[in-house]
Parts: sequence; structure tokens; C-alpha cells
Amino acid sequence: MRIAIGRVFAELNHFSPVPTTLRDFEAMGIYYADEIFQHSAEVWEIDGFLEEARGARDVELVPTMSARAMPSGRMDAETHDFLKGRCLEELRRVGQVDGILLALHGAMSSDDEYDFEGDLLATIRGEWGENTPIVVTLDHHANITHKIIQAVDALAAYHTEPHLDSFETGVKAAKIMFATVRGQAKATIRWRKIPMIASGNLLAPEGPLGPFFAEAEEYEKQEAVLAVSIFPEFPYADTPELGWSVVAVTDDEPGLAQEIADHLAKGIWRKRELFLPEGRPSPRQAVEQALAIDGGPVVLGDYGDNTAGGATGDSTAVLKELLGRELGGKAMLTIVDPEAVIQAIKAGVGEVVTMEVGGKIDTLHYQPVEVTGRVEVLTDGRYSSLLGETTMGSTAVLEVGEIYIVLSELAGPNVDPGIYRSVSLEPETAKIVLVKSAFNFRAYYGAFAKGMMVVDSPGVTAQDLPSRADDYQLAPRPLFPLDEDTRFEI
Ligand SMILES: [Zn+2]
Repeated sequence: MRIAIGRVFAELNHFSPVPTTLRDFEAMGIYYADEIFQHSAEVWEIDGFLEEARGARDVELVPTMSARAMPSGRMDAETHDFLKGRCLEELRRVGQVDGILLALHGAMSSDDEYDFEGDLLATIRGEWGENTPIVVTLDHHANITHKIIQAVDALAAYHTEPHLDSFETGVKAAKIMFATVRGQAKATIRWRKIPMIASGNLLAPEGPLGPFFAEAEEYEKQEAVLAVSIFPEFPYADTPELGWSVVAVTDDEPGLAQEIADHLAKGIWRKRELFLPEGRPSPRQAVEQALAIDGGPVVLGDYGDNTAGGATGDSTAVLKELLGRELGGKAMLTIVDPEAVIQAIKAGVGEVVTMEVGGKIDTLHYQPVEVTGRVEVLTDGRYSSLLGETTMGSTAVLEVGEIYIVLSELAGPNVDPGIYRSVSLEPETAKIVLVKSAFNFRAYYGAFAKGMMVVDSPGVTAQDLPSRADDYQLAPRPLFPLDEDTRFEI
């Protein structure tokens, strides 16, 4: 069998003032045809597809395209048209296939289309017809829509937070695809939407989501159950189908699939209070608590300015709390600020400059802060993150006493130490390290951090959803926890 594979992936934040553009996808690399295989180690779902195909002599995987971006707001029309158009062109280019296996996110949108994945999949289904199986993997931060469910034969999503099982999710989806094409399984999909969103503790397995993922995995041990996926959704997307979902795929057992989806959905709804925002330290409290810890590094997760969730990366909330304090070691942080980078380049390495940094993009939540520091390093911003090769554009490091500010043109992933190491800063030797991540950083810093905490900081990914209830224009209401009168009955 010939199976077309590909990937289009980003988590787009509707509250960000900055559109996601083609440049953001190019910065992380857009790959075509065989290039995808060369970069498969960066795309773990595709690595999972490859692994499952290796053991099957009757399978030929045909690569199409792979694109991924550090997210900002909804895509502009040009980017939307490019991604959708190229994805379809590449699928047409590879000719006759027996199935289409894609790694998607589920929270992509543009100015004109709030459901990029649903629209893309419906178009593929329309062109390739009912007899070509379509199976997708999704991030569990997907907002599942009717269009997605109607267009696919099956789907599978991550079961871990941080997401460490992308590879296993790829293997699972490939197994379903190959069994379907061989006529060994008849994928049957059922789902249940839950009228709730969440920004609280989603850690799994140790957080409140853990038992639900464990239950999903128990179901998956049954022979007739192919995949059970729980979607705690992406709350910073204002769409008509915003909300948690549970999706179950069985082998020709529609009743069982619906029963599983309903059972898990009811259980999650009963425990909904567990997913409310937790009491987390403010930026000031976080810095004070970090300084009270003996040694370092203490890693602070900037919840409100989480660039992996589409935030702008130009927060000064933590910087303000660091300035003027005796830190007893280095503090490292990143700020997206193209103007400041230009000023640093003009000054040159070794020169001392006074400038305003940060707070120029998301002007609703941040203000610029004046600092005086020495330009330590200038780079082109290329670096190797654990998420792959990427660039943050022109980059400068400003040394302000004990504080090292990495100023960059673009927001690159600041989840693992790669971003700091690329500019000759070593997080292991720091007292405080700021990461632009709410949960995923734990997987990369846990081995050597003296402390890790998530900061209740401001920004377009702030955890306090109820306070922004009025910002949602399209989302279905009532919706927990925005509306007290939300009910859920099956
Ligand atoms: Zn995710």
C-alpha cells in the first residue's frame, strides 16, 4: 500500500495582537518530499509513522510536506492560502495513494477560517473521496469540530502533558491506517463535546488529567478499541466549537465508541473544578521565592507570556521584579524586541547602551522598561532547540548587572536550554532562568533545576480565563468556568 504522510502544525492564539505569518513557518522549516525523512527526528509523529511502517513489508510511505511555526495570532490570509494550497498540491503530486496519514495540531485558524484543520480535511475528503482512508494525529490542545470528525476515519491525540508521547501517538495512528487499508479493521468514530475550557493544572500523569488518560489507555487495551483521545482544548481560541472533547475510535462498534466518549466526558465534567486556575505566585512572589531557594537554577515558567501558546514574548513583568535586587547569581530571560536588537547592533559588542526593552508588541499587558547594559553577544539567532532547528532572527544579549537579557527579532521556542546555550549562556550555572512555557519546560529542566515554578503572569495566555469572559465573541455559551449557569447533560 502507498500511504501519503505530512504535517501542518501550530497552536494559534486569537487574543494575540500579532498575526502568524509565513515567516514564522519558514523560521522553523518547511520541508517537502524526502526532506521530511531527513528531519523526521524533529517531528516525532512522523518518526512514529516511519517506525510502524518499518515493520510492515507491504507499506510505502510517501512524504508530502511538513510545516510548523512558533505561533502568534490567527494566520493572515496569505499564510492560510499557502499552507492549504501547498498541502493539497503535494498530495496531488504524489499520485494514487491508498490512504492519507497526517500529523496536525487542531488549533489553527486564520482571519477567515476559525477551523483550519476541519476545512483542510473536508477539502481532502471531498477530492479523494470516501474510499481513501484519512487518519490524523492531533495535539490534545485541539478544538475538535464537527468538520474534523466528519472528514476523518480515525484520529489519535497525545496522552501526556508535557507532550512526550508524540512518537507513540504516531505509531498508534499508523497502526489504525495500515489495518484499515488491509481490511483488518473498520474504524468507527464517535465523540462527545463538553461545555468547558481550562487553563489550570493539566499536568499528566501526575495532575488531575492523569487518571482520565489512564482510563483511556485501559480502554485501548480492549481489542475492539483503536484509540481514545481526550482533548482539554486550547482556551485562547474564540471559536463557535470551543470546548473539551472526548473522541473514541473502535473497530466497527459505534455503540461502544459512544459509550466510552460519554463515560469519560461525564467523569471529566464531574471533576471540572480540578481544572480551574491554581493559586500560583505573582511575578514578585516568584522572584522572592526563587531567591529564598539555596542555589540554582530556579526555573520560572511565564504562564501569561507563553510563546508556545501564541503569546508575544515581550513581557517585562518578571524583568521588572529582577531589576534593583541582589540576585546572588545570573538571571537569564528572553524578550522579543526587534527595535532594541537594532539599537544593540548599532552600538556593537562591548558597548554600553541605555534603551527601553519589551512591552512594545503586547501593549495591553506590558510596558517597556529602561535598562542600561553592555552588549555581550550579537548573533543571527539560529539555534538548535529540542524542538528542532529554528531561528529567533537577529539577536543580541544585553548584560544588565547580573541579568542577561536575550533580545530577539522573533519569538523562538524558549522551552529548553537550547535558546540560551546558542548565545553562550549556560542555564545550569544560573540562579534564575525564565522560560516561555507553562508545562512543557519541566521535561527539559527537571534533571538539573533546583526549583521550578509557574508564574501567574499577565499576557494573552494568562491563566485567569473567567476574567476575560467578555473577550469571547464566537465561543458557545454558557461555558464553564466563564458562566456559572453552565450545564452538561447527555
Ligand atoms: Zn499542546
